[in-house]
Amino acid sequence: MAETLARDILARNLDSVIQRIEQARIAADEHRIVKLVVVSKYTTLENVRTLYELGQRAFGENQVQQLSERMHETDDLPLEWHMIGRLQKNKINKLIEAEPFLLQSLDSVELAEALDKRLEAKDRTMPCLLQINSAREASKTGASPEAALDVWDEIAERFPRIRLEGVMTIGAHTTDEATVRRSFETTRKIFDSLQSKGAKICSMGMSGDFELAILCGSNMVRIGSALFRT
Ligand SMILES: *Cc1c(COP(=O)(O)O)cnc(C)c1O
Repeated sequence: MAETLARDILARNLDSVIQRIEQARIAADEHRIVKLVVVSKYTTLENVRTLYELGQRAFGENQVQQLSERMHETDDLPLEWHMIGRLQKNKINKLIEAEPFLLQSLDSVELAEALDKRLEAKDRTMPCLLQINSAREASKTGASPEAALDVWDEIAERFPRIRLEGVMTIGAHTTDEATVRRSFETTRKIFDSLQSKGAKICSMGMSGDFELAILCGSNMVRIGSALFRT
């Protein structure tokens, strides 16, 4: 699976993804900027370096260990690294030491409390997105849509070292487009309600659904497999 691809293949895939993002963006709102975060969890470090040479700057990993290793291995490059996967409490210190650009997967008040405590001890802050379980799936963590606004307020009030910058969701796990769309629209509504409280990022859309996510209001997409096809 983790295969190092030739530069021209990566260039072709990146161009194709960027063009598709651009088409959806213009169809949705020509004044919106949509940021691409390349998810490198299933690919090689060499591919990350090649994508950097092709102009890509933002990358995401879903495990603290690999995130931290890759941040070290690329510290000669001006990359920004995002943590996008479930954060276990016993990995919090390692994540803080790594200093990611953004933790996208802050999924509960409990996690926020544990994170804030360690941040305080280290006199640090961390930019985060509140993860929304927009399709109410048992397999996923995140605030339920009903609770999301209260969870945001509670984290903002109680945990000053967590800097909430927006929301993140993973679209409903189904091939039924209407259901996926509903999960994105639910998240978009929550994002809109939170903009007056400082929410700027609405991270939604992966390889299989990023155009739909952009049409529903996403301004950050997290794309892995579509970039690493041969
Ligand atoms: C793996 C992953 C992605 C990217 O998924 P692809 O389908 O490979 O584009 C995006 N977001 C999260 C949270 C992920 O774990």
